[in-house]
Amino acid sequence: MSLPKFAWFRRQIVPYGEAKVGVLTHTLNYGTGIFAGLRGYWNGAEKQLFVFRPADHFRRFLQSAKLLSMDFGLSEDDLFHSLLALLRAEDYQQDCYIRPFGYFADETISSSQPGELRAEVSMVAIPFKGLTSRENGLHVTVSSWRRIDDTMIPARGKIAGGYVNTFLARTDALRAGFDDVLLLNNDGHVSEGSLTNFFLIRNGVACTPPITDNILEGITRNSLITLLRQELGIPVEERPIDRSEIYVGDEAFLCGTATQLAPITRIDYRALGTGKVGPITGALSELQDRLVHGYDEKYLHWCAPVYQPAEADAG
Ligand code: PMP
Repeated sequence: MSLPKFAWFRRQIVPYGEAKVGVLTHTLNYGTGIFAGLRGYWNGAEKQLFVFRPADHFRRFLQSAKLLSMDFGLSEDDLFHSLLALLRAEDYQQDCYIRPFGYFADETISSSQPGELRAEVSMVAIPFKGLTSRENGLHVTVSSWRRIDDTMIPARGKIAGGYVNTFLARTDALRAGFDDVLLLNNDGHVSEGSLTNFFLIRNGVACTPPITDNILEGITRNSLITLLRQELGIPVEERPIDRSEIYVGDEAFLCGTATQLAPITRIDYRALGTGKVGPITGALSELQDRLVHGYDEKYLHWCAPVYQPAEADAG
């Protein structure tokens, strides 16, 4: 991975190499960080970089901070304007991935309380093409690790320490030769994939686990629910899904900011439906790819332009 040129660090843009923390930093030791992951999509026709649903990402970022009583004294708008400054400095004319990170910056080994700790935010953006190919369906397995419960580490927050759960499940699945993994919650219902939410299509209905089944409240999930209902006329049910229900489903896919949409074609050595990418999954994926790049007028309100039209012309 090539490193970015700049970082937004201690509230200003600095060369990336200067954005450093010490090994005693509280968050590095205890996993008390929170983060977001956004995408910028390059629209070649308009010579514009669109950030997808930044207000929703920064709202969730600040909600994650609230769960840890972490206060930056920054609003969604402040964060968005810092992001614009960063992306304009990088001058990206290609798809990119954006990583805001909130952390307790104190270098200490004492078990300090949030009010005594200094909360800071960093932000970087790197060129990024996406994680998986949309054409090839994934073979996934159900993990023996269970998804973290809300009574342990809130799954609705993007809390750094909680991602140890994802790391364990994903590592074991990849080592066993699978492409990805599904985690069940403590009730035995499907929760989500690694860094992705889950949808199952059964008898023409799209089903996805409810937000009370220890999922991250995914922004892609929310966008796809809208597209399924409004554009494809597919009913969507947010309800618990049993493990065995997936085996008898017609289509399934994982979705998230980095992944966009990844079809699942096999689960635990069983073909899902025909074993090929299904028609609803395929149609949805095409719709999504067009709209995130800012080619769909109807959903332009989800796409925030980075460059002023005048600047784009001048460039
Ligand atoms: N679940 C987890 C655990 C994640 O980290 C992500 C990625 N943010 C998702 C689901 C998908 O969420 P989103 O669509 O908002 O990226």
